Amino acid sequence: MKKVACCNCKKEVGDTEVALNLKLLGKHIGNFRCFGCLSVNLNCDRDKLIRLAQHYKDSGCILFMTIESS
Ligand SMILES: [Zn+2]
Repeated sequence: MKKVACCNCKKEVGDTEVALNLKLLGKHIGNFRCFGCLSVNLNCDRDKLIRLAQHYKDSGCILFMTIESS
């Protein structure tokens, strides 16, 4: 997996975060945000995003299926 940096804080963005970015913002975005910056961007709770990502993963969303570990 390629390394991706958050477009806001430059922190390394994990595979789960990338998948959630794609899921929530669409497949054509070029910039990814970490959970922290994404939560600010979407005006919601960071923990909520993490739970949401887990939910998508558990429900077998294809975007999350390529993730081997995070
Ligand atoms: Zn960030």
